Amino acid sequence: MERSGRVARRFGRRPDRAGRGGGYPKRVTFPVVGMVGGGQLARMTHEAGIPLGIRFKLLSDTPQDSAAQVVSDVVIGDYRDLDTLRDFARGCDVITFDHEHVPFEHLRALEADGIPIRPGPDALVHAQDKGVMRARLVEIGVPCPRHRIVTDAADVAAFAQEVDGFPVILKTVRGGYDGKGVWFARSREEAEEPFRAGVPVLAEEKVDFSRELAANVVRSPHGQAVAYPVVESRQVDGVCDTVIAPAPDLSEELSGQAQELALRIAADLDVIGHLAVELFETTDGRILVNELAMRPHNSGHWSQDGAVTSQFANHVRAVLDLPLGDPRPRATWTVMCNVLGGDYPDMYQAYLHCMARDPQLKIHMYGKDVKPGRKVGHVNTYGDDLAEVLERARHAAGYLRGTITE
Ligand code: ADP
Repeated sequence: MERSGRVARRFGRRPDRAGRGGGYPKRVTFPVVGMVGGGQLARMTHEAGIPLGIRFKLLSDTPQDSAAQVVSDVVIGDYRDLDTLRDFARGCDVITFDHEHVPFEHLRALEADGIPIRPGPDALVHAQDKGVMRARLVEIGVPCPRHRIVTDAADVAAFAQEVDGFPVILKTVRGGYDGKGVWFARSREEAEEPFRAGVPVLAEEKVDFSRELAANVVRSPHGQAVAYPVVESRQVDGVCDTVIAPAPDLSEELSGQAQELALRIAADLDVIGHLAVELFETTDGRILVNELAMRPHNSGHWSQDGAVTSQFANHVRAVLDLPLGDPRPRATWTVMCNVLGGDYPDMYQAYLHCMARDPQLKIHMYGKDVKPGRKVGHVNTYGDDLAEVLERARHAAGYLRGTITE
């Protein structure tokens, strides 16, 4: 049933008994959050809205997508088509995203139609285009790897001369994820490949880093913002494998700097919702920004079981302009390990062993078919002894995948 005509888009102070004092038009029901994209981030954001009675409407590519399996109000359609987006937006109080691929001009058109888009197009463009992101971060004084847009392999060679020589990192400015769209070019010959697709390419110096960190913050339209503890994120083959919260042995100074940077980026770019700032901790003790993601992020999954308010719950609050929840950790250490598909399609069989071995283990599965190497879920563990907490998470992820058998 279509309700948008009757439902006020904003809500605020409750009117008194005489009906006075309401700051905004009176709502008649709970708001509808429209989520574009049916992946696991949408699935878990939906889950976080359930206790609050928030209603979800999903635009998903297929009925089999992770979130489409669990959300009751699903539109199957193509997010690249403006008419589809407009039909979808009808009946939503706000639109938010599971990914950053909705074309910028469509976001603008939806915004002009009057529907709140959170984060808005002018913020989201920085997560869509690495060239735009780098230019803006430099403008606002955020430390980044040396970089520039390059036109061909010869230009890459010239850029290599400007930094410390090869290798350099090449990135397509749009459409990359989980290391796809990123090349380590060790020579001019190896720099040919990224140009074959005919899309703009960003060259970056190869950063000498000791580890990767992420600073996650959430910001609301009121300008309220919260910062989660800075985490360490370990990648295997370009895919996030393990996240440790908080990042072990990170100095208070760097941790504070990273949180301040993330809060500043969120404010300067007017990000609404969850912002993940992926960082390098360099071997000489600095932090540099690698990437921005303006949605719940893999580096924040630990917060589901390890923080007072999860990234998903705070994302829902932020897009609805509700007061944000406490981001502080509930345990000394929380570890998240991603569960990748292995050779055994039936992961459920592994539950018996994992749950019996570790009653504190938290398993989060995405409802995806198990295929080798595919991210199909994650586990969270927490406790006071980091070595033990890490071992428990790794064991569970490995056992579910089938790489550990006892
Ligand atoms: P994606 O959008 O696919 O996540 P990223 O920009 O995060 O791409 O790069 C993927 C990985 O490549 C990073 O996690 C990091 O390990 C490595 N990487 C990216 N940029 C650099 C750089 N300038 N120097 C060294 N390593 C890098």
